[in-house]
Amino acid sequence: MSAPSVCTKTLKLNTGAQIPAVGLGTWKSTDEECYDAVMAALKSGYTHIDTARIYGNEAAVGKAINDFLKETETPREKLFITTKLWCTDCKHPEKAIKESLARLNLDYVDLYLQHWPIAIPSGDELMPTDENGFRKVLPFEDWSYVDTYKGMQSLVKLGLTKAIGISNYNIPKIEKLLNDPEITIVPACNQVEMHPCLPQVDLLKYCTEKNIVVQCYSPLGSTGAPVLENETLKSVSEEKGVAPACIALSWGVARNTVILPKSVNPKRIASNVETIDLSIEEVKAIEKIGVESPRRICDPKWGTNINVFANSDCY
Ligand code: NDP
Repeated sequence: MSAPSVCTKTLKLNTGAQIPAVGLGTWKSTDEECYDAVMAALKSGYTHIDTARIYGNEAAVGKAINDFLKETETPREKLFITTKLWCTDCKHPEKAIKESLARLNLDYVDLYLQHWPIAIPSGDELMPTDENGFRKVLPFEDWSYVDTYKGMQSLVKLGLTKAIGISNYNIPKIEKLLNDPEITIVPACNQVEMHPCLPQVDLLKYCTEKNIVVQCYSPLGSTGAPVLENETLKSVSEEKGVAPACIALSWGVARNTVILPKSVNPKRIASNVETIDLSIEEVKAIEKIGVESPRRICDPKWGTNINVFANSDCY
């Protein structure tokens, strides 16, 4: 039995920078929860925080980061901060990142991700819906995810972000992006749903070949951590004498992916950054859970138009 210890593993991005293998997720955290969670995480050994414009908590995340840096006299470069371009900002990424940086009260982020390969008409609402309750999207022919990414490329030279990347892209979408002659920056990361019940073996292999680091969102299965109920995972955790969460997260680290567990509970925040080593056989045995019966949890329906939907069935 090996005791979990704070994970200090980093992965090399195609920019040359190192990304910490464990980052704190902040989706569905209120401002107050978020401030405390980010502060607790940074004090527990996390050096990587993941947020997004759409989470509505960039200001709280930024306040905790800045307070931590000041309190502990830690240089900004020791932390890795990610935020994301929301789909309504697809046509004006420079304005969007500047607004995010203002909320975060930071000069730059380490990674700026295109949140979804979807374009949503800009207006008062961040998630407008049509009369049938489906989320409104711009037709692919009018504005595509490739157009959005093209616009993001200049943000690196402007010093607003150290790297750019994508999220919720499947293999055909990445191919389309990489085959476009105007794409000069290979995405540093692709952030997708990935956990033992959804190991996405082909996508991981493809991204690795293209030198794109995969970040696992919902590594515990999202709200309520349903992945931890899996019987195989539970039996491995009993064998190893650690919690099922430690197995699920250590598995992500062992596969050379980045894991982004979210918690607002200080004890869970501290335990989620502690991982153990798993053998290749153990990694494969856990992978089998989702290879045999894959289970996707985050599956938003974008739009009703079949062509739009066909172009937007991501991941
Ligand atoms: P997670 O898989 O991280 O699960 C979070 C849930 O698990 C919460 O209910 C949390 O409760 C609970 N939990 C956390 N740790 C433990 C533990 N050790 N034991 C038992 N339960 C636990 O879900 P998310 O969907 O939040 O994904 C993680 C992050 O990924 C997000 O926060 C966000 O940053 C990112 N993300 C990105 C997306 C994208 O489109 N790019 C989409 C979805 C997520 P509690 O807080 O009470 O501990």
